[in-house]
Amino acid sequence: MTLDIRQIPVLNDNYVYLVREPKSGCVGVVDPAVVAPVLDEAKSLGWTITHILNTHHHGDHTGGNLEIKEVTGCAIVGPGPDRDRIPGIEVEVTDGDTFTLGDEDASVLFVPGHTRGHIAYWFADSDALFCGDTLFSVGCGRVFEGTMDQMWSSLSRLRALPSETRVYCAHEYTQSNIQFAVSVDPNNLALRTRESDVKIKRDRGEPTVPSRLGEELAVNPFLRADQRDLQEALGMAGADPVAVFTEVRQRKDTF
Ligand code: ZN
Ligand code: FE
Repeated sequence: MTLDIRQIPVLNDNYVYLVREPKSGCVGVVDPAVVAPVLDEAKSLGWTITHILNTHHHGDHTGGNLEIKEVTGCAIVGPGPDRDRIPGIEVEVTDGDTFTLGDEDASVLFVPGHTRGHIAYWFADSDALFCGDTLFSVGCGRVFEGTMDQMWSSLSRLRALPSETRVYCAHEYTQSNIQFAVSVDPNNLALRTRESDVKIKRDRGEPTVPSRLGEELAVNPFLRADQRDLQEALGMAGADPVAVFTEVRQRKDTF
């Protein structure tokens, strides 16, 4: 049975996810930035939080950890290599591990770059990827702690997952990401189509997340650094993908 996933918009543009595995009734919270909206939503659904799943240590992903744990007694799961920076962590996971939520497995993928310990949770049977601030819709996270090389490798791993995978990223940045993407990839027709779809959704106040990985492959410049058309648009035909990724990431940092 597939996971029941609820999206909670918090702060300016964060998404927290409640993930319920129906057979066991286990409920995970992915990256609780805050406390009250998460507990309120769980209560109104009649769900009991059993786990917190952290992707990385930033405060807008772990800020609710300790209080939610105190109230619910849930277990906190996070990246083992970053244990010192994940408040309340008790289940340490790392690349290649399987975390089981009730009756459903998540593969843990180590995807450093945004931070040096960043992980993603891939629930293959539900086509759901929780990737924190590594991959966004039409964008990617800033490279704060890792290298450009690492971030490109991390995105390349995520890119290789099945195209029907839903990308549950942690921020609603899609519209500004598209503005930037159009500036580096102006002739991409799929991107123009996505631009108008996203505008309609945002004008209605609807989320643009999750998208499907297959859609991202066509429009996300950070997944396309090895694609000839993007390289040509940047005047970097035949260049090393890491160099192209670096160029795109640096342009975005100052856009
Ligand atoms: Zn972050
Ligand atoms: Fe964040």
